[in-house]
Amino acid sequence: MEIDHKIYRVELKHTFGISRSKNDWYDIVIIYINDGSIIGRGEAAPSVRYNESTERIISVLNKSIQLPEDCSDRQVIWDFVFPQLQGIRALEAGVSMALWDWWGQKLGKPIFELLNVDASRMPLTSFTISIGQLEEIGQKVEETEPYSILKVKLGTPGMDKEIIKEVRRHTDKLIRIDANEGWEKDSAFEMAKWLADQNVEFIEQPFPANDLNATAELKQRSPLQIYADENSLVANDINQIRHAFHGINIKLMKCGSLEEGKKMIDMARLYDLKIMLGCMVETSVGITAASHLAGEVDAADLDGNLLIENDPYSGVKIKDGRLVLPELYGSGLKLNPSFKELLY
Ligand SMILES: [Mg+2]
Repeated sequence: MEIDHKIYRVELKHTFGISRSKNDWYDIVIIYINDGSIIGRGEAAPSVRYNESTERIISVLNKSIQLPEDCSDRQVIWDFVFPQLQGIRALEAGVSMALWDWWGQKLGKPIFELLNVDASRMPLTSFTISIGQLEEIGQKVEETEPYSILKVKLGTPGMDKEIIKEVRRHTDKLIRIDANEGWEKDSAFEMAKWLADQNVEFIEQPFPANDLNATAELKQRSPLQIYADENSLVANDINQIRHAFHGINIKLMKCGSLEEGKKMIDMARLYDLKIMLGCMVETSVGITAASHLAGEVDAADLDGNLLIENDPYSGVKIKDGRLVLPELYGSGLKLNPSFKELLY
């Protein structure tokens, strides 16, 4: 058995703007677990917000990851490999996905079944409108035609209302707001009140993750529910933040494994928190792996692969705005033939 990897540049259809950054492309890393007959695939999409980079991931992978002597069991391999990943969550997530994909194919089961996730009712997914020029919004809204929920990135001082007004000139679909820590304390309550009249479902991460008090205060007064993203990375965070939020956003790239994602779902349920399953800008490798958890969440925001021009794989699909898992074992990925020179 071997662990292999390839760096891959994802090109975005539109510049991806959020409150703190702007990108036209990202370098992600595809991770392969190959036992000579079965190939498991995972993806690491590092985030600058969490001090991660492709370079750091590659430097760990190039030092070569050691495998245990007995490579017949997923858990044994994971326990052996995990300490070598140096706490880089995106890399952990990539290896976790690849191992689960390999293991599912080996056992002849889809990942959701191995994780005891009920996938009989898959959620609708939202489609993201990132921050850009106001004039582009009409075109972006047109592209969201297949999706019934939009996620609009805000957190641009002075511009947020203009953005929503412009979106509303083109559609009356339900909107989720993601401020990516970009709101000011003074104007947040007024903004939440205004948004409540704009067919908005909830607000994600209004304030910086270290300003939990302001968030708790807003939660008390806001007519809209508040979800944590930058404040909810792993299961251990939930107990400390649950007083300040109505719900959490779970991402594999933040929590580091499918098992940890499942643990977060179970813990959030226990505390009566709403659950969203989100993503970074990722190919179908990451998005499909995450979709195996989607049957148990309230809201899915798994559109990373739809925002890119050059998705090399296919896996989870969208039908009438809803996620549909492939009927295959493991994650259920297929390499799109035109990418055969680059990846496998
Ligand atoms: Mg977010």
